[in-house]
Amino acid sequence: MGFTSNLCLWITFCLHLCCFINTGKAQNAKEVILLDSKAQQTEMEWISSPPSGWEEISGLDENYTPIRTYQVCQVMEPNQNNWLRTNWIEKGDAQRIFVELKFTLRDCNSLPGVVGTCKETFNLYYQETDSEVGRNIRENQYVKIDTIAADESFTQGDLGERKMKLNTEVRIIGPLSRRGFYLAFQDVGACIALVSVKVYYKKCWSIIENLATFPDTVTGSEFSSLVEVEGMCVSDAEEEADNSPKMHCSAEGEWLVPIGKCICKAGFHQKGDACEPCGRGFYKSSSQDLQCSRCPAHSYNDREGSWRCDCEDGYYRALSDPPSVACTRPPSAPQNLVYNINQTTVSLEWSPPADTGGRNDVTYRIMCRRCSWEPEECVPCGGNVGYSPQQAGLVDTYVSVVDLLAHANYTFEVEAVNGVSDLSRTQRLFAAVSVATSQAAPSQVSEVIKERVQQRSIQLSWQEPELPNGVITEYEIKYYEKDRIYSTVKSRSTSATVNNLKPSTAYVFQIRAFTAAGYGTFGPRVEVTTKEEASAATIVSSEQNPVIIIAVVAVAGTIILVFMVFGFIIGRRYALAAFSVTHGSPAVHQFAKELDASCIKIERVIGAGEFGEVCSGRLKLPGKRDTSVAIKTLKVGYSEKQRRDFLCEASIMGQFDHPNVVHLEGVVTRGKPVMIVIEYMENGSLDAFLRKHDGQFTVIQLVGMLRGIAAGMRYLSDMGYVHRDLAARNILVNSNLVCKVSDFGLSRVIDDDPEAVYTTTGGKIPVRWTAMEAIQYRKFTSASDVWSYGIVMWEVMSYGERPYWDMSNQDVIKAIEEGYRLPAPMDCPPGLHQLMLDCWQKERADRPKFDQIVGILDKMIRNPNTLKTPVGTCTRPISPLLDQSTPDFAAFRSVGEWLDAIKMERYRDNFTAAGYSSLESVARMSIEDVMSLGITLVGHQKKIMSSIQTMRAQMLHLHGTGIQV
Ligand code: AMP
Repeated sequence: MGFTSNLCLWITFCLHLCCFINTGKAQNAKEVILLDSKAQQTEMEWISSPPSGWEEISGLDENYTPIRTYQVCQVMEPNQNNWLRTNWIEKGDAQRIFVELKFTLRDCNSLPGVVGTCKETFNLYYQETDSEVGRNIRENQYVKIDTIAADESFTQGDLGERKMKLNTEVRIIGPLSRRGFYLAFQDVGACIALVSVKVYYKKCWSIIENLATFPDTVTGSEFSSLVEVEGMCVSDAEEEADNSPKMHCSAEGEWLVPIGKCICKAGFHQKGDACEPCGRGFYKSSSQDLQCSRCPAHSYNDREGSWRCDCEDGYYRALSDPPSVACTRPPSAPQNLVYNINQTTVSLEWSPPADTGGRNDVTYRIMCRRCSWEPEECVPCGGNVGYSPQQAGLVDTYVSVVDLLAHANYTFEVEAVNGVSDLSRTQRLFAAVSVATSQAAPSQVSEVIKERVQQRSIQLSWQEPELPNGVITEYEIKYYEKDRIYSTVKSRSTSATVNNLKPSTAYVFQIRAFTAAGYGTFGPRVEVTTKEEASAATIVSSEQNPVIIIAVVAVAGTIILVFMVFGFIIGRRYALAAFSVTHGSPAVHQFAKELDASCIKIERVIGAGEFGEVCSGRLKLPGKRDTSVAIKTLKVGYSEKQRRDFLCEASIMGQFDHPNVVHLEGVVTRGKPVMIVIEYMENGSLDAFLRKHDGQFTVIQLVGMLRGIAAGMRYLSDMGYVHRDLAARNILVNSNLVCKVSDFGLSRVIDDDPEAVYTTTGGKIPVRWTAMEAIQYRKFTSASDVWSYGIVMWEVMSYGERPYWDMSNQDVIKAIEEGYRLPAPMDCPPGLHQLMLDCWQKERADRPKFDQIVGILDKMIRNPNTLKTPVGTCTRPISPLLDQSTPDFAAFRSVGEWLDAIKMERYRDNFTAAGYSSLESVARMSIEDVMSLGITLVGHQKKIMSSIQTMRAQMLHLHGTGIQV
């Protein structure tokens, strides 16, 4: 015991004076300390059993800080079993507990006389409990942790060096399941000083990683376990989609393996570990964006943390526009809106707006209103009107509005719209036109019902066409046996019985309606089979022989027709004759209304006619609005014949009522000057109008004009009238580009016509426009009018070029006889030239009828693709015969001279360089050849090509070849 006491004193001394060599690690910030004996200043009062074993002693550590230690040194006596138990330690969150022991241990060899009893180890135990238990130590309740041995023991010599070896041992216990535990130290006969006992567990301390906060996390119970921890986004941040933030807390209290992340919300950007709002004038539209961006054009914001910028006044963002694009505005109005009326169809064309509003999704929509004559009384057109390709969302700059009412006033507004148009509250910008539709034929009769079917007769009834476009005066029923020639019957009502049919025979019926505007198109075919023959006797008795009936009807019809035609012509002659004798003849007034001169106001002279000046002015009839009119006057000092001829035109014109035939308002015969009052055609005659607007129309517009002329001619031919002088100069054009046939002077026309020349038989004929049979033996028919119409087509497509250029009339006649035909004008669609060639068929029966011409042109208008001109298709193939010829091209001796003459001498070198040294080689050039010379100006190409065509025509004539070109 005395030895022990000495030793204890010695140790105490040592604690005061010696420096420990601390082999332990510095305290780690990841640790949570449950017990630290060094931190305890007062007595620890651990339980020592037996009480004579472990002793609590105060000392100083290396820093001279007072500490509490336990010592035991019963080395002299055998069978030691000294227990020291700590106070109860509450484990808290801990699962794995670290026990760090610092102790010194005396080397048994350094102690004399202790052999056999002295030990150099001690045992460490623990006991888990949910609360403190009594002060008795029940050894069997303790679980052994380990036997602890010293790394370093010390001897007396060491003391002399005033050094003590302090051992540090760390042991881990766990997983623990109770609320707390005790530690116990069992000494079995060693000399130990327990300098400090530290009990702790490890934690991963809260951190922010990837904008997510991870809370303090206790490590797992196993050495190898990782604790998965969900992060919480910092304020103004959100979890990245499908990538929520996670980290793993290791057993060592370290954060490992970060997964997923948070990102700053829209309107915020990352700065360090936080999200900060975007500044003013900046925005961040999505959490996915990293940075705030400056507001795009025409937008702003004046608050922080914005996810988008607001548009400036008058600027908008479409729903589909991302916040990153500039704010935009509705487009300006479309430009250069033009239109073309074709009966009840109005075609509109325009150019894109000058300002698209900053967008590239401009489309167009059409607003159609039907107006009474007062402009404020306009109502939307409604669903009966059709639009091709459509009414809204038009990508191209044209539309056709169909199924309008005839004789009605419409306004069309063409609005350019883009993605923000519907958001704008500013006034709509649009281009508008007011249009008056012309007269139109009725629409189809489509619903035909078989009322009664007999052996020899069929009774049909039908509905009035949907669009009568006027008062229906008659229906025509066309019927035929399959593959046979057809017959027609007429009916004034919507039913008819067709008699004299064959029994058991299939007949096909088609019906069309007639109004003042002419015939509508035939409706669909309806096939009906007559009943079977009952018996021969009944047939004879009940119905007459159809062949006889047809023959009788045909003969009677022919007689009536002949009578009518003669009556028409003779009647007119007679009327004029009568008129020339007595003023105000009832015959002329049968067709021309006598106007009161006071209703007419002459404003200015617009032209010179054969009989006097042509003026423009206004006509105000009682109870009607005043209208613009043209007034043809008969100059003073006229002869009776002149007066008769002058009024002749009015009496003919007065019989016609068609939108494409110039309309006669009336005549003034009871005063001077004698006047013919005609509807005013603002653009005058077609040939001059086209020359003035060379190249300015689209092909569709030109075809629209031709269609109008053909419709007027169809009407005239249906009326049995042959024009004889159809030419562009005799077509008038109004402000809507509607073309109307004019100049109905019959033989007089030919006399007036500056184009007309005497034929060998003494009559005057406009040679260039006239069919061969009419020139040769004065055979004027609708078929010869069709020839002239072909020439008008050529005039229109070449913008008023003179047919056959400057060839002489004699040469023209010769060339035509020999088969020469005018080539396609520049840029003329091949289909149109083909139609011209058809009109110029030598055999007049082979020429198309005006009805067919209208149909063909309508088809072209409906399918504008057919009017596209493939490059080079309009150039005339060169006759192989021309190749062998050496024409004496009289006017020019060289290519240079020719170029001088047409003021294109600047291209002389181009021609020379490409090897075009002779006029013959030039005559063979196509438009591509001209272009390949490097002549880029379209006007120059056109001029050169036109001259080449003239040259060819002359060469052709000089050579006298019969070539159909
Ligand atoms: P005309 O004697 O009918 O050939 O008429 C001579 C010229 O007068 C024509 O070439 C036209 O320029 C003009 N003209 C004739 N009729 C009209 C009309 N209805 N409207 C406008 N101008 C007309």
